[in-house]
Parts: sequence; structure tokens; C-alpha cells
Amino acid sequence: MRPPAPFWIVKCPDCSGEQAVFSRPSTVVNCSVCGATLATPTGGTAALRGEKVRDASA
Ligand SMILES: [Zn+2]
Repeated sequence: MRPPAPFWIVKCPDCSGEQAVFSRPSTVVNCSVCGATLATPTGGTAALRGEKVRDASA
């Protein structure tokens, strides 16, 4: 079994841009296009505000 992918592709709810987000961030992740919050740290896996599209691993 492979470990879970460390990065997710998350779709911004405000501008629909897609961005790679670390699944366990230590800081808030903002959209690179419009600056909206995409993910907030929880101490574990990120709490996503946007929609997870897919895992980012090849
Ligand atoms: Zn955005």
C-alpha cells in the first residue's frame, strides 16, 4: 500500500482556479489567484474550504 498523496488539487470556491495544497499544512493556504482561503491547518489533514478535485501525485 502506498501512503496517501501528500498534495491535493483543490478548486477555489471563489474563482474556480485549481491549486496544489499540502494535505497537512501548518499555515493557512490561500488561493494564488484571488487570495481566498483554501485550507486551514487542524493539526492533522487540512480543513478544506474549496473542493478537492484529485490527488496531485502522478
Ligand atoms: Zn481563488
